[in-house]
Amino acid sequence: AIPLVVAKSTALAARNGLLIRNRTAFENARKITTLVFDKTGTLTVGQFAVARFEALIGDVTKEEVLRLAYALEQSSEHPIATGIVAKAKELGISAEQAGKITAITGKGITAELNGTTISVVSPNAPQNPPEKIRAGETLVYVLRNETPIGFIALSDQIRPESAEAIRTLHEQNIKTVLLTGDNKVVAEDVARTLGMDQFFAEVLPHEKLEKIAQLQQSGEFVAMTGDGVNDAPALAKADVGIAVGSGSDVAAETADIILVNSNPKDVASLVLFGKATYRKMV
Ligand code: ADP
Ligand code: MG
Repeated sequence: AIPLVVAKSTALAARNGLLIRNRTAFENARKITTLVFDKTGTLTVGQFAVARFEALIGDVTKEEVLRLAYALEQSSEHPIATGIVAKAKELGISAEQAGKITAITGKGITAELNGTTISVVSPNAPQNPPEKIRAGETLVYVLRNETPIGFIALSDQIRPESAEAIRTLHEQNIKTVLLTGDNKVVAEDVARTLGMDQFFAEVLPHEKLEKIAQLQQSGEFVAMTGDGVNDAPALAKADVGIAVGSGSDVAAETADIILVNSNPKDVASLVLFGKATYRKMV
């Protein structure tokens, strides 16, 4: 039988936006010493808007850079893709049909178009990144046969509740860590704005899992909060896996607890509830 305090507290959790899928994980929430957060869609809204786009070589126009990216990104569901497609549509750019479209996990997308290979990739992918990233910008390069021909800069917004979530966790002596596939400049900007203890950028999905394992080996009791397919392995590895409600089904199915309202502040409530509930029992 479920002890009454636990039953009551699960109901209270539900009222505060927490869906408990795994009772043991809920019980363990009081032991959390480190909370790892994904960035895009977790601490930020996850809706990218194109801020600027430019050509980097003479025989290409900036409109062509966007048109090529659009041809690839119309078949991707990544939030960066959604932002690029929206901008291209807004400007009335015509959609071309690319072939052999392949996603490069954690890095971008590549395809064949008019006999050339076109890729849209993260800034660490080209050998010598030609454009300097500005604070808060997520940058992708458009490559033609491996050569950067242009870039597209996008911006996302930090969720209004994220700062309070981090502050409340710090009040409970929980260390906060940012883990993102995005570039170092954005990662640092978000971590600094929110006052987080540590950040890791340009992290591939399998490296997210490894980072969780490393923290566990160093004696931390680790919770991970994420929304994406790329966060699922890390959510499974964490002592407490927490998925953002608005995120992917894969993340939700892997997690122990779901933030129904996609509000990072509810993570802090989770720790408080866990402590209040099980203090009464022992
Ligand atoms: P996050 O951890 O922020 O959710 P991802 O692992 O999904 O990031 O992606 C990491 C990086 O790979 C992105 O910041 C971007 O630079 C690049 N990327 C991934 N998918 C795409 C895509 N469809 N188009 C352009 N860039 C992409
Ligand atoms: Mg994400």
